[in-house]
Amino acid sequence: MTRGRRGAATTAAASPDDVAAVLQRYEELPKAVVFDADYTIWPLWCECFSPSYTPPLYPDVVTIMDGLRQAGVKLALASRTPTPHVASAFLDKLGLRQRFHSIQLIPAADGLDQHRQVAHRVRCIVVISGDLDRPAVAVHLVTTCICSNPPVPACSAQKDKAHFPAIQRELGIDYQDMLFYDDEHGNIRRVSTLGVCSILVDTSTGVDLAALKQGLEAFTRARQAAT
Ligand SMILES: [Mg+2]
Repeated sequence: MTRGRRGAATTAAASPDDVAAVLQRYEELPKAVVFDADYTIWPLWCECFSPSYTPPLYPDVVTIMDGLRQAGVKLALASRTPTPHVASAFLDKLGLRQRFHSIQLIPAADGLDQHRQVAHRVRCIVVISGDLDRPAVAVHLVTTCICSNPPVPACSAQKDKAHFPAIQRELGIDYQDMLFYDDEHGNIRRVSTLGVCSILVDTSTGVDLAALKQGLEAFTRARQAAT
C-alpha cells in the first residue's frame, strides 16, 4: 500500500446510489463488515485528541456503512486505541454508535505497541513543528526513536485474540463470513490467520468506494476458492 498524505480527500464523496450499485454486483455479501477506527474511518489517532473534540470522518464512511446495513450486513468496530473513552465519545458525536452491532474498544495490555509509540511521538512532534509536508524530518525522527527505544514485549490484546473472538460471540457469525478493514499491516496479517478476508486501507482515503469494491472482490474470490 502507498501511504498517502493523511486525511487528504482526492475525490467527491460516494452517493448512496453509488454504494447500492456496487453492492448489487455481488451475489453474496459478507454477513459482517468489521472496521478499525483510527485512519480507517477517521483520519487521526484519537489518543492525540480530547473527548470534547469533534473529529472529521473520511468522506465515504457513513454512506458505505448505511448501504451495507440496508443490504442486511452487520457492522462491527475493532480498535486497539489506548484511549477507548475518546473513541467512544467520537462514536457518539458522529452518530456512529447506533450503526454498529458490536463495538470492541480493547486497548493493548501495555498501552501502545512499540511501533505505535514511535509513530505517536513522531506524529506529535511533527504536528507541533508544523512539518506535515516534510517526510525527511519524520524519517530522521523515526530512526532516532527506534534506536533509543529498547524492544518491548508483544501486547496481549491483539485483534485476532481479543477483538474478533468477541465479535464472533456477539454476532454469531463465522470468520469466513466477515470482511475486515484496517490500516495496519500487523492487524491485517493477524486477523487473516483466522480466515477473515482482510483489506489494508489507504490512509489518504480511509474506507472509500474503491476499498468497498476491493473488499467485495476479495471476499468473492475467497468464497469461490473455498468451494
Ligand atoms: Mg488504525
